[in-house]
Amino acid sequence: MISVKEAKSIIQGKIFKLDSEVVPLDRSMGRIIFEDVVATFPSPRFNNSAMDGFAVRSSDIIGASNQNPITLKNIGISSAGVPSDLILNEGECMQCMTGAKIPSGSDAIVMVEHTTGFSDDPNVEIMIEVQPESHIRKRGEEIQKGDKLISKGTHITPSEIGICATFGYGELNVSKKPKIAIFGTGNELVEPGENLKEGEIYNSNLYVFSDLVGKAGGEVLMQDVLKDNKSYLESFLSEALKSCDVVISSGGVSMGRFDYVRDVFIDLGVEEHFWKVAQKPGRPLFFGTGNKTLIIGLPGNPVSSYIGFMIWVWPIINEMMGTDTVKSIEAELTEPFPVENIKYRYLFGKAWIENGKVLCKPSRKIGSHMLTSSLNANCIIGAEPSDIKLSSGDSILINLLPWKIIE
Ligand code: AMP
Ligand code: MG
Repeated sequence: MISVKEAKSIIQGKIFKLDSEVVPLDRSMGRIIFEDVVATFPSPRFNNSAMDGFAVRSSDIIGASNQNPITLKNIGISSAGVPSDLILNEGECMQCMTGAKIPSGSDAIVMVEHTTGFSDDPNVEIMIEVQPESHIRKRGEEIQKGDKLISKGTHITPSEIGICATFGYGELNVSKKPKIAIFGTGNELVEPGENLKEGEIYNSNLYVFSDLVGKAGGEVLMQDVLKDNKSYLESFLSEALKSCDVVISSGGVSMGRFDYVRDVFIDLGVEEHFWKVAQKPGRPLFFGTGNKTLIIGLPGNPVSSYIGFMIWVWPIINEMMGTDTVKSIEAELTEPFPVENIKYRYLFGKAWIENGKVLCKPSRKIGSHMLTSSLNANCIIGAEPSDIKLSSGDSILINLLPWKIIE
């Protein structure tokens, strides 16, 4: 049995980075950007109006007010997408809509509300004076050409996709998704929706895995629930080792008489890097490699599988795609935490913010078969092995579940 720290460093040494692929912008959501994105032009690209109004020469309307309107000659229209070539001379103005190019000669916009309005009338009265540059969005005021907008390794969210569209990127170079095989083992497992016979239970782990793989950014290429039977395991695994970057199993890696998963991995030539980690839940964790494929055997108890995925598999998927994984944060316990002497202890928990502090409450359901401990949880709490008990008020590390919020 090795420590959590040793296990992490062994895995670290075996993770490889995936290549990139080019995808259309509208299919890049949720992916990881593979290279820095830079501004292809300054933004705004040209001086344009922030308001519907009149482009003017501010010096022409000094002193203008409701009581003292100043009349200007209306020489045309500049609208969004249809700029005007006309140049504004002294005493002239031009109708200029939001987003439209500011005509040459003009140095400010007067909002239409402070004029006699848009019309084909050659004369317009202006009822307000404005400072030079009023309501003008200046070329390059937001971003200069060549500025770095998004760093390599960033997760593409609505902000990134919007920025890439703004700067005209029709396609993006993103990290490939890790191809993943997930399988569960157990003669007792029945699919939800079917009837249970004596001694049977429903397979829940693969449903959890499948959602977690997608959330982490991977792609489930193969998925099955297998009986505790060596030949079934062999045929699934030999295929998975050929086609997948990561193989994740649930169950069948403990000391049970029918726990064949590890044996079959070894029979198929998988190199075992460790089996059994000083952690609770999930001690019989298996890690091996077959060619380049990474193989993680998680124990079948639903909490061991779920927490095991988050602690061990999620960071692997992130790192393969070149992105950072969620960091632990410090929180203050509101109840005692069941620290173990020689094992790292994980539990689902609920964290929240109160008076500027992050507080957290561990689930009271401490059994690794109790998946309801994950309901209402928004974090996984973890404590190093120690003889010292942790009580309410002590600080502890938590990993927020990335799809949950902390209130
Ligand atoms: P194992 O690691 O195979 O010894 O399984 C440990 C416990 O987890 C047993 O009670 C299994 O019935 C249960 N288990 C295994 N696989 C699953 C699964 N896919 N869904 C729900 N429970 C499971
Ligand atoms: Mg089993």
